Amino acid sequence: MKPETDEMEEIVAPLLGTECGSCGSRFSSSTPVCRSCGSDSLTQVELPDTGRLITYTVIRYPPAPFIGEEPYTVGVIELDDGTRVLANLRGTEWEDADGEQRVVLHGNYKGRTVFRTFSE
Ligand SMILES: [Zn+2]
Repeated sequence: MKPETDEMEEIVAPLLGTECGSCGSRFSSSTPVCRSCGSDSLTQVELPDTGRLITYTVIRYPPAPFIGEEPYTVGVIELDDGTRVLANLRGTEWEDADGEQRVVLHGNYKGRTVFRTFSE
């Protein structure tokens, strides 16, 4: 059974990432050193809440928190600043995703970031 919309936590905080003070690379998760240049000069930054879907997969054998919710879709999103994020996806028409599908931050569900489609 798919989770109902009202189980979704509201977005109360922006999407946070890490930015390297030496080379400017950004990462969607915390990291002890920059994965591009090795610097430890890292600061927390707000990431954009929109981007495009790069690729996705349908999860049919989920980890424990999501058992009973399969199938559901997980995708790699390239945010508008170039940072890549792994997130759960809400919406339809993923089969038609061509690398240009626009997505927007939708919420948080069981600790996972969730994006959904939108048109500009
Ligand atoms: Zn760096």
